[in-house]
Amino acid sequence: MTAELLLTNVRPLGGEAIDLLAREGRIAAAGAGLSAGAGATVVDGGGRLLFPGFVDAHAHMDKTLLGLGWYRNEVGPTLIEKIENERALRRERGIDAYAQSSRQARLAIAAGTTHIRTFVDIDTEIGLGGFEGVQRMRDDFREALTIQVVAFPQSGMLARPGTVELMETALKNGAEVVGGLDPSMIDRDPAKHLDVIFGLAERYDADVDIHLHEPGELGAFSVELIAERTRALGWRGRVVISHAICLGGVEEAYLGRLIDLLLENDIVIMSHGPSGLRPVPSIKRLREAGVRMCTGNDGIRDAWGPLNMPDMLLRAFIIAYRNNLRRDDEIEMVLDIATHGGARVMGDAAYGLMPGCRADFVVVDGETHVEAVIERPQRWLVVKGGRIVARGGECLV
Ligand SMILES: [Zn+2]
Repeated sequence: MTAELLLTNVRPLGGEAIDLLAREGRIAAAGAGLSAGAGATVVDGGGRLLFPGFVDAHAHMDKTLLGLGWYRNEVGPTLIEKIENERALRRERGIDAYAQSSRQARLAIAAGTTHIRTFVDIDTEIGLGGFEGVQRMRDDFREALTIQVVAFPQSGMLARPGTVELMETALKNGAEVVGGLDPSMIDRDPAKHLDVIFGLAERYDADVDIHLHEPGELGAFSVELIAERTRALGWRGRVVISHAICLGGVEEAYLGRLIDLLLENDIVIMSHGPSGLRPVPSIKRLREAGVRMCTGNDGIRDAWGPLNMPDMLLRAFIIAYRNNLRRDDEIEMVLDIATHGGARVMGDAAYGLMPGCRADFVVVDGETHVEAVIERPQRWLVVKGGRIVARGGECLV
């Protein structure tokens, strides 16, 4: 059990300085002039900025190539080429999901991330090997990182008989979320793909998170099918569409109808400010319409590309850059997506900086929290469940 931790003189989201007292993993008090009992750890925050822990709500920890030397990326441009290339690489190099996800976990903790939703590839080639490795990692880090696992059919589901059964086994053994993937472009049978996904969700009482890279009206059609099934199953608030590139590629009137469907079914959009020349869903438009959002770093230094790093302040910067968000209030909105937005998706009702919340927070140098997105200072202190898990940019776990 963690002892008391008293953190003095910190500025929550750049506001007035306060003290924060953590006891038994929770924030026991927040305010001026707090004192702690004998034996408490006392840390003087020196007027630094305080954030709630960052939430990476879209990761692929099983397949990062971090620490394995530079991977020279010469993969072709299509989605299928990327998927095939990744499977071949996994075969040739025998990527160890446990070791690799553990590496990423340490870097994420050092960067102030306290929550991660990670997709784990399940297919007829690797079977449950990746899932089992990630489960072991999750167990190792259970005090330092809240991790949610998505059973994810990266190589297709109907196209590869046996995949659904493997996903079921993962769901029986601790995966909390059912993943899906481009129902038209990969499995080429959108209604059946989604029926199977939502069937698994119902059977295992699991949330749903679907990668949707399908462009324009094809992707929009998938959004409609997802909304229909969300309504039919009564899964309001339990479905995420990740990427949803199509929302950036349909005409305005159609976008309005899709937004109505998202709102009616409380479907969350995960957007990470993707690279590329295609239009992306406008974060601002979606948020102003009331659509819930979350974000994440997606694959880190993997066979898909080298551009992502496990740092949610960098992610907030990338989203702001990609969406041309320059005003402080706009960048604050991105920070809210990278913290509270993701925590809600992961079902953490005890998230935040208020008394009673789990003591998960990050302290950094800086004048304002928006400035921290631009400067991305080293994470001075990271606390998870009232315990210091990183200091001076070093993971202590
Ligand atoms: Zn992804």
